[in-house]
Amino acid sequence: MTGSILSIAKIFAHSLKFKFKHLFTLPSRPRYINLSFTYICNSRCLMCDNWKRYKDEPKKLNQELTLKGYEKFFSENDYWLSDLRNIGIAGGEPFLRSDLVDLVKLIHKNFPKIKIGLQSNGLAPQKTADVLRRIIKFYPDISLGVSLDGIGKTHDKIRGISGAYEKVLQTISEAKKAGVKEINSGMTIVADNFSEILEVKEVVEKEKVKFACFLADEGEYYNKQSKNGLDEKVKNSVIKSLKEFSGDYYLDNLRLQLEGKRKRNLPCYSGWTSLVIDPYGEVRPCVLRSDSFGNIKNSPLSEILTGEKAKAIREKIKKCSCWSICEATTSAIIDPWDVLFWFLFYADKKNFLKQYFSKLENQT
Ligand code: SF4
Ligand code: SF4
Repeated sequence: MTGSILSIAKIFAHSLKFKFKHLFTLPSRPRYINLSFTYICNSRCLMCDNWKRYKDEPKKLNQELTLKGYEKFFSENDYWLSDLRNIGIAGGEPFLRSDLVDLVKLIHKNFPKIKIGLQSNGLAPQKTADVLRRIIKFYPDISLGVSLDGIGKTHDKIRGISGAYEKVLQTISEAKKAGVKEINSGMTIVADNFSEILEVKEVVEKEKVKFACFLADEGEYYNKQSKNGLDEKVKNSVIKSLKEFSGDYYLDNLRLQLEGKRKRNLPCYSGWTSLVIDPYGEVRPCVLRSDSFGNIKNSPLSEILTGEKAKAIREKIKKCSCWSICEATTSAIIDPWDVLFWFLFYADKKNFLKQYFSKLENQT
């Protein structure tokens, strides 16, 4: 308990430095990098067209960063990567790249103290477990995030793959057998599954998997520009389900925003403390914006993150607003003042304290 309180005090003190950099649009060394390792994907999701990319432009696959490209990136950017806390590896489906184990090995060799997490659609249970077993031999703290968007046929429909639901459950079970200690599940809320939020939560929590849900995002990463507007009936049902999460900063604020009771007050630190690197090496602030700070194939981070172009993008981000889960949760860790405000005036305090302390123990 004392350790947790000290960690909180440290985070609040540090946040002032980040607030200053945000205010004056100064560059910052990233703490969170999300590597979108490939756009190859074996799913057929309704809300994302990544799986179509190489059908439309097969030659573009050759432009994806190779392991050598990542090696060069990690070794040539010592200073700018010296504050890293976490690297997430996502896709497409990262388990479809045969050099995934080598990438994790490379990251772990260069940054032995940081957390590495993998994202998967959970469609290939055995293959996923084999890869995880190989990783666990040299990095036992690997975490896994799997997507689960509904029960049975609902998940199959959203993912466009028959039998996908059973495969995800099998992936969770195989990952546990392989020795993965931290497994998270993510549910994208769309018009087809809005009534199943609490059922999915129950299913995954029975498996000791942490549940999260979020609205479908739109943007560059998803290769799709469909509108995600929820109609009134869907919105009201989502609001009702989200009342169960009154101690969770992200989900409770999602509900408050849907109800029109709160706007986003948390500054977005995408482009400051978190970055996304797409499969071709473009450095972006987040998966939703198409602006690129530059490409790691051609330039070091010292140039990419400090130039006039980067400054102009950060100025735009200051006026930008969304409630994307990855970006909002990392910004809330960097700058927890809005979490404090929400805690004092909105939160179910008992529930919140339980969840926040357990998150802090994982993050610090
Ligand atoms: S959401 Fe993920 S799993 Fe689905 S098509 Fe897009 S990249 Fe593939
Ligand atoms: S507010 Fe959202 S869209 Fe804008 S930069 Fe931040 S994460 Fe990206």
